[in-house]
Amino acid sequence: MKRHTTLSPIRAQNICCPNCGSRSAERHWIEDENTVRTQCPECDYLLISCSLTANVVEAYFPSSTCEKVA
Ligand SMILES: [Zn+2]
Repeated sequence: MKRHTTLSPIRAQNICCPNCGSRSAERHWIEDENTVRTQCPECDYLLISCSLTANVVEAYFPSSTCEKVA
């Protein structure tokens, strides 16, 4: 399957950070990869999950113990 590489169509939404409560957190839908990425510039919170299965691909919670979900 050949896929020409172009910029992925990304939809973004401002949300409240689930970690620190900051309103500058953003959620991005990366349609090419079927992933949803939630990130917060205030506390470096990061959550990447699959938009189809809701499985967590990668998660980073800076204020708690650094834990990576395999
Ligand atoms: Zn935050």
